[in-house]
Amino acid sequence: MITKQQVEAFGSIETPFYFYDMDLLRQTLECYKAQIDKYGYNAHYALKANANDRIIDTIRSYGLGADCVSGNEVKLAVRSGFDPQKIVYAGVGKSDKEIKAALRAGIFSFNCESVPEIKIINDLAAGMGKRARISIRVNPDIDAHTHKYISTGLKENKFGISPWAFQEVAGLLSCCKNIEFLGLHFHVGSQITELPVFALLCRRIEELQRWFIEHEIPIRNLNLGGGLGINYQDPIGDPVAHFEDYFKLIHQNLVVRPGQNVHFEPGRALVGQCGHLISRVLYVKVGREKKFAILDAGMNDLIRPALYQAYHDIENLTSTGRKLRYDVVGPVCESSDCWGTRRMISACKRGDLFAIHSAGAYGQVMAMKYNQRDLAKAVYSDDLK
Ligand SMILES: *Cc1c(COP(=O)(O)O)cnc(C)c1O
Repeated sequence: MITKQQVEAFGSIETPFYFYDMDLLRQTLECYKAQIDKYGYNAHYALKANANDRIIDTIRSYGLGADCVSGNEVKLAVRSGFDPQKIVYAGVGKSDKEIKAALRAGIFSFNCESVPEIKIINDLAAGMGKRARISIRVNPDIDAHTHKYISTGLKENKFGISPWAFQEVAGLLSCCKNIEFLGLHFHVGSQITELPVFALLCRRIEELQRWFIEHEIPIRNLNLGGGLGINYQDPIGDPVAHFEDYFKLIHQNLVVRPGQNVHFEPGRALVGQCGHLISRVLYVKVGREKKFAILDAGMNDLIRPALYQAYHDIENLTSTGRKLRYDVVGPVCESSDCWGTRRMISACKRGDLFAIHSAGAYGQVMAMKYNQRDLAKAVYSDDLK
């Protein structure tokens, strides 16, 4: 929740900007850490959700590793002080240059997404006189019941290797001398709020790892990826993701064999709720049928509504008066630059400060300069004290 004092401090800051509640981030990380320690699980933060230095440093200070999806994310993770032995690297299109840099950095695991990728990693490692540790990202064909653009584990998605290719993978693993096989990796989608999806994933993992064990290929690691959702509808009432329920369900459903390590890659669930996009009302335009609140923040600052039809709670921070119905829109010349239609919000006027909540994940990191707009800056709660 944004405090009165914080709103006062916002008065002198140029809008729009991202506000990060670092207390909430730490509180979230404490809950998360307590749960993974309870079960002896390992975690790698998915840098792509939010790559701000201060956020990354805070997460690293809780002992998490990094989950990267590009060569530059691997570089950033190393530069930010993550232990290379805790860096995992996924992505369907790793370039030779990216693979070589990750080999030089000595990362923990390449999460391989195709048969030809395994071969190329082996060849590049051989050329450098190295051995690459790899895991197989498996496409388990599971419906995550989330938006189609953030579903990744269905057979029609581009991600991962399908079980019908396992025989070919097994052949490669036995002949590729510069590869060390660690285990299986999964990531079936993002903003998953129906926990039974993860129980289904656990059952699929057991079926799939059996294939390898029956073929005498040991599985040392099981990486379940990320995807746990947050409450976009009620970010103030429900600010911390339901880690306890999630890990309890995983613990009850995942078959873990002696000596196996279990890994996770949380992104959104760690950083989503600590970020808010703060904006000012530029104009209230009253039409015959509706009222528009026109903000100075646009889809270039936070693209989720335009890209995924995502819902973000919107609050008038200046007034708590009687609520009226508004269509809240941004200034960018696109009809999809809309924060929400028919939203009940305390009556607003020019200059009022609005918070677009739950903007910490896939927000600032996706910002762009479309319409030649400036990039919104970050403000951290620790600096306002
Ligand atoms: C994006 C991503 C994650 C994090 O997903 P969230 O839904 O933000 O938790 C984890 N693993 C991989 C491979 C990813 O691409």
